[in-house]
Amino acid sequence: KVIEDPTDKISSTGTITEYLEYFQDRFKKLRRLLRQRIDVKDAVSIAEALKASANSKVKVIAIITEKREIKGKIILKIEDLEANATVLVSPSTNQEVMEKARTLLLDQVICVSAFKGRDNLLIAEDFVWPDIPQKTPQKAQLPVYAALISDLHVGSKTFMHEAFNRFLLWLNGKFGNETLRNMAGHVKYVVIAGDLVDGIGIYPGQRKELSIKDIYKQYQAVATLLEQIPDYIELIIIPGNHDVSRKALPQPAIPRDYAEPIYEARKIRSLGNPSTITMHGVELLTYHGRSLDDIVASVPNLSFHTPEKAMKLLLQCRHLAPIYGERTPIASETRDFMTIERVPDIFHAGHVHVEKCDTYRGVLVVNSGAWQTQTKYQEKMRLTPTPGVAPIVNLQTVRATSIDFTTPA
Ligand code: ZN
Ligand code: FE
Repeated sequence: KVIEDPTDKISSTGTITEYLEYFQDRFKKLRRLLRQRIDVKDAVSIAEALKASANSKVKVIAIITEKREIKGKIILKIEDLEANATVLVSPSTNQEVMEKARTLLLDQVICVSAFKGRDNLLIAEDFVWPDIPQKTPQKAQLPVYAALISDLHVGSKTFMHEAFNRFLLWLNGKFGNETLRNMAGHVKYVVIAGDLVDGIGIYPGQRKELSIKDIYKQYQAVATLLEQIPDYIELIIIPGNHDVSRKALPQPAIPRDYAEPIYEARKIRSLGNPSTITMHGVELLTYHGRSLDDIVASVPNLSFHTPEKAMKLLLQCRHLAPIYGERTPIASETRDFMTIERVPDIFHAGHVHVEKCDTYRGVLVVNSGAWQTQTKYQEKMRLTPTPGVAPIVNLQTVRATSIDFTTPA
């Protein structure tokens, strides 16, 4: 069942007014989520906080518009719908608060607990993320499995034909030991979180690394693979940054003109990025994961090799793309589709090409790796991908098992 799909709701034209409405909607949605917390309930507006007498304690909900670290101090500029303020985080306050301040992302909405200083200055005492409450995930009544994959990059010379063929053989009960074959028979869903193809003109000099240089032919090649997935399996696909869809988030479903061969090959559910679905009652948020680049680049101690940590941070921010204006283009939709309003049972992303699974507050966090060996760009970035390994989720337990398809059984 499809719970959320932005495809038919996209209407932006890119005006300043739309962007203003977009950020106001983001702010309001996250403020509502923050207010559900007991420790944020008493937050006031910035204007009201600035009226408080010096040294009194105040709490405000705000969006972070600037962040600078000078001489061991962190200075933030924050604003809400009416006013703005400067927040000083000084190491003399508390080392833990300093660490929290370092992980703060630009354009994220947060609660600042502070002491009122002079003029519009607030001295930070603590920061509160919207976060997700601890939850017990919904579980399927039956022993059904979902294969969560992403980043095939068909058309690239580095696409792993053999490994992907083993994955298809496995789905057909023709690969692996008895346990694996038995498991394959229970797979009812295959979800692909984007980058089905390598695309055309995605980065400079890409042509040299392509084995298929025509975008239609790339999707045709994808279709010949996907048609080998047994008919009784539901196939759900969303676009990634290499697919033919607009680049700005949210991305509508891959247009039928391009995905036609896939539609012809078998029944598919082609949705936008991000989308929320339920599979046998288990709610899945599937998102390509472009913003993980920005998170890794701006948060200390996070790397491409720990995408699950970056994904946890997105859950804490309750937003899929907090940072605006870096590597992740965000469209001026007047409704913010990137706020994580519903807490899913499974949060699935790809893009990073490193397969990792973890749980955070009861939510299964999955980065589904890739089917492409190390690219020149990744080599330059010193990223060692873990391609050919697929996380398979048992929906009855909401636990993942990683299956390695890189070597013959
Ligand atoms: Zn990718
Ligand atoms: Fe990607």
